[in-house]
This record gives sequence, structure tokens and C-alpha cells, in this order.
Amino acid sequence: RAKAAGGNRFQLADAEADARAITRHGLTTSLPAALDRGEFFIEYQPLVHLGDGTVHGAEALVRWCHPQHGVLGPDRFIPLAEHTGLIVPLGRWVLEESVRQANFWQERHSDGGPLRINVNLSPTQLHHPRLVAETVDVLERSGLEPGALCLEVTESALIGADDDLLKPLCQLAEMGVDIALDDFGTGYSNLANLRRLPVSVLKLDRSFTRGMQQHPADPVDLKIVEGIVSLAHSLELAVTVEGVETGAQAEQLRALGCDTAQGWYYARPGAPDRIHSLLLADAV
Ligand code: C2E
Ligand code: MG
Ligand code: MG
Ligand code: MG
Repeated sequence: RAKAAGGNRFQLADAEADARAITRHGLTTSLPAALDRGEFFIEYQPLVHLGDGTVHGAEALVRWCHPQHGVLGPDRFIPLAEHTGLIVPLGRWVLEESVRQANFWQERHSDGGPLRINVNLSPTQLHHPRLVAETVDVLERSGLEPGALCLEVTESALIGADDDLLKPLCQLAEMGVDIALDDFGTGYSNLANLRRLPVSVLKLDRSFTRGMQQHPADPVDLKIVEGIVSLAHSLELAVTVEGVETGAQAEQLRALGCDTAQGWYYARPGAPDRIHSLLLADAV
């Protein structure tokens, strides 16, 4: 009987795996039409200055409003889009749309100082020969100054990067675009390698901030973050922390010298209006 139940369990697991593969296949084949039909949308999550809590900018996070499956997060479809190459037109759309949005905010809050827009780039986009030209074009058409754009690249995408891969990033950095190393600390970076990269921001992965959620915070995590912050600052890199969920965490990270933060404690990703009202609140 136990054996039979075990057998059923395996059948069930197989059926689930099949269902997942079918869904994956379905999602993959419907990606191009979804882009044409305008099923993607962007949520924005504020980045705040840890010093005074004011809004520093926002990260653009893409979602897919799928007609059958509802709203899908990027982890469900970015890997598929990356695999099929659709990430190139999708990423171009995200860049264009979020830069346009950032310029709209900027024009309405010109005295509030620069407002940054962070956009994620996947490895395929990094390798695309027209990355620099298209980014320049998007910025010029929107009127947003290059210094307001920050492109987030994961640490793993740059591991072992040769000069050919770094050249477009260097060109963008020379124009004033910030490059952030996303999910920092999850890869196997050679810290000395940081000097070679045209990066101006380290985004410390959520796994580090997790240890600060408990009270008292995990002393080892504190030490690691302290070390990364001092290294980053000595290389003149700014430090952003992701996944800040509590006030205690925010306080610890501020005390450790982190510059900016992002997380549910401040705001979940949301519609562009939300950022607009936060900026209005800052202005008073
Ligand atoms: P990421 O760039 O590291 O983005 C941060 C993720 O952490 C987001 O997940 C965000 O919603 C989530 N997050 C923010 N604050 C908190 C918090 O306090 N607690 C917790 N538990 N989570 C928090 P999301 O939106 O699901 O995005 C996942 C990943 O998908 C992103 O990770 C990014 O790598 C990728 N992605 C999103 N949009 C794009 C895009 O337009 N292009 C590309 N290539 N990748 C994208
Ligand atoms: Mg990111
Ligand atoms: Mg990140
Ligand atoms: Mg992350």
C-alpha cells in the first residue's frame, strides 16, 4: 500500500512537472504576441536615501498581465524571454517606457533634485550590438539626462567579462549613465575585479539584509555588510540595499553607512502614481 501511494506520488510529481513544462511552453510561444498586444506593464519601487528617507529614485520591474494566468512576475517569464531572444525587444520597451516615466516625474519635480530610474539589463541585452546606440536614442528622445539613468546588471552576468563585453558598459558610464551591480554578494565575484568594472553602485542582495531582520541582528551579517560598505566606499561606489522589510533593518543599515535602500518597509512595487505622490510628499 505504501508502495502504491509512493507510486501515485511519483505520478503526481510527473504530472505536475508536465503541467509546468506545458505552461512554460505556452508562455514561451505567446511572448511575442503579448508584447504586440501590450500585455506587459511596469511597476515602480522607490529607492530612498537612508539618511533622511527621501525618494532617490525608483526601480522599474516588469510584469505580464496574462489573459489566462493573471499577473505573472518576471521570474516566470524573463528566463523564457532571455532564452528565445525576446528579451531584446521586451527590454527595449521597458527602457523606453520607464525612461519616459522618469522624465515625466522629473519635469514635475525639478526642484526636488535629480530623480533616478533604475532599469534591469539581462545578459543577452548586454551582448546586443545596439545596446549603446539604442540607449542613447531612448535618452535623447525622452529628454532625460543620462545621469538620471541607472542600469542594473547582475554580478553573475559580468563574471569573467572580457573587454568586448565591458566596452559598451564603459561607453554608457562615460556618458554619465550609472551602472549598478545587482544582487551583489550572491555570485563569486573576485572583489579585486570590481576595480575593472565601470560600476558606480553596489546593490547588496536581499540575503544579507535578511540576517538583520531579527533582533538583535546576526553579528556575522553585520560584519560582512560593514566590510562591503567600507570596501565599496573606498572604491567610491555607492551602496544600495534590497529587501528592507523592517524599521530595525533600515536603522542598522543606515548605521552601517549604506547609502540608499529599497524594500517593502518603504513601499512595494506599484503603479507610477505611487511614486508621484511620494515625490509630492517629499516636496512639502
Ligand atoms: P531584482 O532586480 O533584484 O529586483 C528586486 C526584487 O525584489 C523584485 O522582485 C522586488 O519586487 C523584490 N523586492 C523588493 N523589495 C522586497 C522586500 O522587501 N522583500 C522581498 N521579499 N522582496 C522584495 P520582482 O519584481 O519579482 O523581480 C525579480 C527579478 O526579475 C528582478 O530582481 C530582476 O532581476 C528581474 N527583472 C524585473 N524586471 C526586469 C526587466 O525589466 N528586465 C530584466 N532583464 N529583468 C527584470
Ligand atoms: Mg534589479
Ligand atoms: Mg536586485
Ligand atoms: Mg535580488
